[in-house]
Amino acid sequence: MTRTMMTGVALLVVVAVGTYVLARDDGNDSPATELSGDDRSFESNDWMKRACALPEDELVRIRRGHHRVHSEDVTIVPLPPNYSGSFRVTSHSGPWHYLQNVPLVLYGPGHIRPEGRIEGEVSITDVYPTVGHLTGIDLPARTGKLLRAAVGAKATSPKLIVTIVWDGVGRNVLERWEGRWPTLERLEREGASYLDAVVGSSPSITPATHASLGTGSYPMEHGVTAIEYRASDGKVRGVFPGKDPSDLQLSTFADEIDLALGNEPLVGMLAWKNWQMGMMGHGSAHEGGDADQLALASGHGFAGNNAFYSTPRYLKRFPGLEGRAEELDLEDGEADGRWRGHDILDQHDNPAWVNWQTDAAIEMLGREGYGTDDATDLFFMNYKPTDIVGHQHNMDSGEMGDTLEAQDAALGRMIDFLDERVKDYVVVLTSDHGNTPPTERTGAWPVLQGQLQASIDEHFDVPGKKSLVRSTSAVGPFLDRRVAKELGVTPADVAEFLNGYTVRQNFKEPELPRGYEDRGDENVLAAAFPSDRIDSILRCARNS
Ligand SMILES: [Zn+2]
Repeated sequence: MTRTMMTGVALLVVVAVGTYVLARDDGNDSPATELSGDDRSFESNDWMKRACALPEDELVRIRRGHHRVHSEDVTIVPLPPNYSGSFRVTSHSGPWHYLQNVPLVLYGPGHIRPEGRIEGEVSITDVYPTVGHLTGIDLPARTGKLLRAAVGAKATSPKLIVTIVWDGVGRNVLERWEGRWPTLERLEREGASYLDAVVGSSPSITPATHASLGTGSYPMEHGVTAIEYRASDGKVRGVFPGKDPSDLQLSTFADEIDLALGNEPLVGMLAWKNWQMGMMGHGSAHEGGDADQLALASGHGFAGNNAFYSTPRYLKRFPGLEGRAEELDLEDGEADGRWRGHDILDQHDNPAWVNWQTDAAIEMLGREGYGTDDATDLFFMNYKPTDIVGHQHNMDSGEMGDTLEAQDAALGRMIDFLDERVKDYVVVLTSDHGNTPPTERTGAWPVLQGQLQASIDEHFDVPGKKSLVRSTSAVGPFLDRRVAKELGVTPADVAEFLNGYTVRQNFKEPELPRGYEDRGDENVLAAAFPSDRIDSILRCARNS
């Protein structure tokens, strides 16, 4: 069955493994058209042929996201709208427009020109030279280009620049929830809003794109490729272990501006976890740098890393979360500790966390005196709840609408605070990636990573408890290089196998989920290839 045939019909999809059935008409609001792939099976499993046939702009994004040391060994590109994940939990790592296109809105009376909505592709890496321009400081040249339409010819040196990331809120989430973000809409009208902004690299994932925003370059240069990361010693581990910024191989605009102004500026970040560190920078790990303020969510407070950063004492256990939770709890008239059926304090995925985090940020800005002297201060925030909602409940859920609305109201509070207390400021609002619509809407096959690993091991007759896969990721496996060597299996061999990989092979139950019974022969992936061959693949695509 072709993609086009799938979209017009009501889809029945078994959620999880055959336990219950969700029925839903995907109506005519149809991103499935924008997501649609072409044929769902291919003639060749040759990795070069398959990869070379990918659209050039997608290959360019994969190239920018690839680092020769740190990236996965085999890159997979699911056949759109397929994605890595499960029926219940989506992911958002890929080169496609719906994940790449994010808001990029600059606002600041007297600093940012009221240009309104602006068309034409720009990148979140362009924030770096633009902040440099605003502050009048010559930053080391990077990939990013000045957002010329947004700023005047000369530096205007605002007292404070606040960069806010709404995690996982790509343009596709804004479009899905139109009317729920009136504050951002106002900033779009009264500031400069780049409608075609992209994160510009794949995997489109939190640590990588935050680092691109901070450094004005892509992972191929700054080195922060993803959450899972192959270190220089060959081991696969999480990025920024122990909140140590060393994985970030380039300085950020905050590092450079702080240093250029003799560490006079206040630099700080209040965010969710170490995945966002690349947005702010290295603290005192940057030569000549000082201990910038780092506040990452930790229990009912915020913590940093005293080796390179400082954290205000009053943030370590910051009061008010219970009050914010109660407020949300009572919205439905029932005091049961729950919101939309979920425990409020259990996960950072609801408006109570948004409001509490905003309370803490405003407290921090006020008490530390951000924006009160002439040296431009820099403050960074990440709102993670929208991303967690996207994974846990999906972007079409009521949870997303409510949480997005709460983040927008928080933006309104922040602007009010800045108008009253700082007066002379710039706000940059963007996101680190879009969000994947649920399978009920798109008919996607979720590429089940556990099964993919099992299939690879089965195909290559991997003995006993060993596995060829050291770690899976949404954009492909890290191989266990020792096992691969023992068995004589190369990344190219694994890629070739995956190029023939079907829906049937990717599901271990005897019966395929309802709605997919006739789709067993479909290819799951558009292409799989050895990651380190991306340059020659891109050359091939450009020549054909
Ligand atoms: Zn995420």
